[in-house]
Amino acid sequence: MIPVVDGHNDALLRVWRSGESLRERSGEGHLDLPRMREGGIAAGFFAIFVPEDDYAGDPRADVVPTDDGWEVPFGGPLELERAASIAHELAAIAERDLTLVRTVADLERCLNGGEPGAILHLEGAEPIEPGLGNLDGWVERGLRSLGLVWSRPNAFGCGVPFHYPGAPDVGPGLTDAGRDLVRACNERGVMLDLAHLNERGFFDVAALSEAPLVVSHAAAHALAPMPRSVTDAELDAIGDSGGLVGVVFDTVMTRSDGELVFDTALDVIAGHIEYIAERIGLEHVALGSDFDGCFPPAALDDASKMQALLAVLGWSDEELAQLAHGNWLRVLRATWAS
Ligand code: ZN
Repeated sequence: MIPVVDGHNDALLRVWRSGESLRERSGEGHLDLPRMREGGIAAGFFAIFVPEDDYAGDPRADVVPTDDGWEVPFGGPLELERAASIAHELAAIAERDLTLVRTVADLERCLNGGEPGAILHLEGAEPIEPGLGNLDGWVERGLRSLGLVWSRPNAFGCGVPFHYPGAPDVGPGLTDAGRDLVRACNERGVMLDLAHLNERGFFDVAALSEAPLVVSHAAAHALAPMPRSVTDAELDAIGDSGGLVGVVFDTVMTRSDGELVFDTALDVIAGHIEYIAERIGLEHVALGSDFDGCFPPAALDDASKMQALLAVLGWSDEELAQLAHGNWLRVLRATWAS
């Protein structure tokens, strides 16, 4: 098996709701420690994602048809105090069940056969005070990756909505607080994740950040025309910065027709990997499953099946190792403080 670093999962949210433990194999959802081991996932970015009050499942349950496709209306903003308290509950689950990866050396131990590791990632910065007063506390607790936004505007920037078809050129760029947060993450060696960020925000970060640009879980816009997909201009900027895109496993987000089809062939996801590798080089593409946060095809519908995607690519073992973990390792070496 080729060890994998996976760029994104929402397993913490699943077990926050279900009360399960990630140490035990679940009959539900996509990812837990036993299934990570079976699939060769050495480490993953575990998202701390705060749902809305009335958010019972996936927002795409609220899909509304439009003239030429579909959309999911935005929910309301998150309130800081509630967001911070739920974020701490999710982090506590990670601390209880998982081995946190805080350094490159920790990650190397995972890749050399240690316990599967968890990189703590905040998806949407709503739990961070706009004055950044509580950021250091989070970094001390183990936060190593931060997404400025999810699919909504917040104090730092503007996320893209879910709709099909569409492009990410919606909404304003980063706020002053957003620019401060980018600088603060650079200074503290926290990775910035540009997944869900709109196009103006993306290029604001590209102009400001000193770290390689990363989109942890997304598809290529040329193949899947949705706002969440990464445009060719964004891909070029990511390549120029030495960064990477983690290709998402969602059928809706990877298919050219934006449909939810569980028997979608793995070739569809592999096509995004190949497109990005051809456009900006295979050193800039990686995996970002979004397990427990998306609708993967049946052939890839839990973490134990991870290696099946590598098998359809027809790449050399050396190339697959770069895709599966080498590129993440390079980017995190360049980004993290230690
Ligand atoms: Zn996401």
